[in-house]
Amino acid sequence: MPGPRDLTLRPEHAGTRPAVTVLAGPTAVGKGTVSQYIREHYPQVCLSVSATTREPRPGEIDGVHYSFVSHQQFDELVEQGKMLEWAQVHGQNKYGTPRSMVENALAKGQHVLLEIDLQGARQVRQTLPEATFVFLAPPSWEELVRRLVGRGTESAEEQQRRLETAKLELAAEPEFDAVIVNDTVGQASARLVEVMQLTTPQQ
Ligand code: 5GP
Repeated sequence: MPGPRDLTLRPEHAGTRPAVTVLAGPTAVGKGTVSQYIREHYPQVCLSVSATTREPRPGEIDGVHYSFVSHQQFDELVEQGKMLEWAQVHGQNKYGTPRSMVENALAKGQHVLLEIDLQGARQVRQTLPEATFVFLAPPSWEELVRRLVGRGTESAEEQQRRLETAKLELAAEPEFDAVIVNDTVGQASARLVEVMQLTTPQQ
């Protein structure tokens, strides 16, 4: 059963059809898996492909999961004003949303889903206040730690750094329009679909 924090939508957002939805939440909470679900089941949604300076993980495809760029390329994109938002996340690496991707999708009348960190979400709040801001929360702190350690893609040092950031990010939950607890990917994705008002899955 959904918990009390689940899918609390601010009244002023109920019944509207958001064009841009921002999905944020702490490391390892499952944002990528939920986004993947939307990618597979709702092809009418434009899932923004961020640029990042981090190295690809096994299985990640350039241009699909991220655009993998050098630090120099990233800095040029920022200087040229081509990023809607960007942030240095978990220490060393930079991540950003290419402005053109969002603008082109909106021009085509598509929903746009941005899966970004808290700093980025705050920037989008300034530039696109009409967007809907969704916080994906873990069922508990212990479960978040278990998921991060369990996926085994970060060193112990990196895990520690991400958990420190996660504490700050969890404290920002009240800033968001909707909170979805990620108990299972299926349930959380279904709730995100509800918030985005995507009623007709397309095959
Ligand atoms: P990861 O390295 O695990 O793929 O992502 C690390 C963090 O960067 C996650 O919290 C993810 O949501 C965030 N992130 C991914 N893309 C962007 C982006 O374009 N902008 C911002 N601000 N954060 C991003």
